[in-house]
Amino acid sequence: MAVLVQKFGGTSVGSIDRILHVAEWVLNAQARGDHPVVVVSAMSGETNRLVELAHRIAPIPYSREYDLLIASGEQISVGLVTLAINAAAARRGLGGPCATPWLGHQLGIRTDAVFSKARIQAIDTDRLRGELDRRGIPVIAGFQGVDASGNITTLGRGGSDTSAVAIAAALKEAGTPGVDCEIYTDVDGVYTTDPRICPAARKIPRICFEEMMELASLGAKVLQIRSVEIAAKFRVPLHVRSSFEPVEGTRVVSQEELRSGPGALLEEVVVAGIAADPDQVKFTLQEVPDGPGVAAAIFGALSDAAVVVDVIVQDVSSDGRLNVSFTSGRSDALKAQGALEALAAVRFPGMRIVMRDSLAKVSIVGVGMQNHSG
Ligand code: ADP
Ligand code: ASP
Ligand code: MG
Repeated sequence: MAVLVQKFGGTSVGSIDRILHVAEWVLNAQARGDHPVVVVSAMSGETNRLVELAHRIAPIPYSREYDLLIASGEQISVGLVTLAINAAAARRGLGGPCATPWLGHQLGIRTDAVFSKARIQAIDTDRLRGELDRRGIPVIAGFQGVDASGNITTLGRGGSDTSAVAIAAALKEAGTPGVDCEIYTDVDGVYTTDPRICPAARKIPRICFEEMMELASLGAKVLQIRSVEIAAKFRVPLHVRSSFEPVEGTRVVSQEELRSGPGALLEEVVVAGIAADPDQVKFTLQEVPDGPGVAAAIFGALSDAAVVVDVIVQDVSSDGRLNVSFTSGRSDALKAQGALEALAAVRFPGMRIVMRDSLAKVSIVGVGMQNHSG
């Protein structure tokens, strides 16, 4: 009996009708002989609603109380999905234990303490194994964990993908044979670009971890980048598919498998896809004194503030002064501004900080490009 981690995104649990459908879907997988482990997101729109409430009170709300608040959407879906699976199991006349609800802290999903961007450090698989041994179906809240002080933490927007893959990886590491991971979303696979923006986009039947990581990091939010990193590291095959129609989606596999498995191409596809990220900001630091340790001071301060920096451009210095520009996501803009102002005050008094928002980034992705001119 293979363990099948099934992650249902916001739209898949977006209404009671959808939740009843998910319950049948999970029990069908069980009836086919798989052992489902269910991971759920908040109902669609719920996390946005909670984020917006917090931002109406404080401009940079990221804190212990913020994570506690925005993690609550997943608690609602876990409760509803568990109720729905148990009701559907009773209708089918299935006896014995069925679904049990788990929040991140109850399951032992341990993270660091970086609120709103926490990283999973370890997952205690004992409770999960116990559930599987007694043939139960664990229903787990995605997106959340617990830090060493017992605070609820969240994994960044889209983080339920990462919860699901991390659970699959932890089960695999604990010696569970044959762990697969399915990511159910509102499109039926990974496309050459966002099919909601470009209807001519084509579904990619199979893609390697490296290309998927690039697409995800460059703005294709169909999978959170960290979920793909974990999948690549622990060799967890992913199947991205739709819970609306039972069709084959996209398999995310290793490069070796892509080259050798069914449907392998003789020559590498040069371009796998195009990603766009409409939420970029650019900072330009003017009149920065040139010298050893300057870049370390700037990017060290940004790193301490947990700002993710993307593209960096440094001009040639003139008169011992230079300009440094970098881009980051818009959600990090206020944190970056605060860190840079503090740096200007204590270390670079003449430095000017110019921020430009409303930028977008378009990227073309493909591992085949490294061997092709043009
Ligand atoms: P979920 O709530 O299920 O996690 P998300 O909204 O996080 O769903 O991700 C699915 C969305 O990702 C799709 O609706 C689509 O608009 C977007 N998307 C962006 N790029 C791609 C791509 N290359 N292929 C498929 N979907 C994409
Ligand atoms: N509910 C969270 C979000 O909206 C996590 C997720 O959906 O993956 O970002
Ligand atoms: Mg998502």
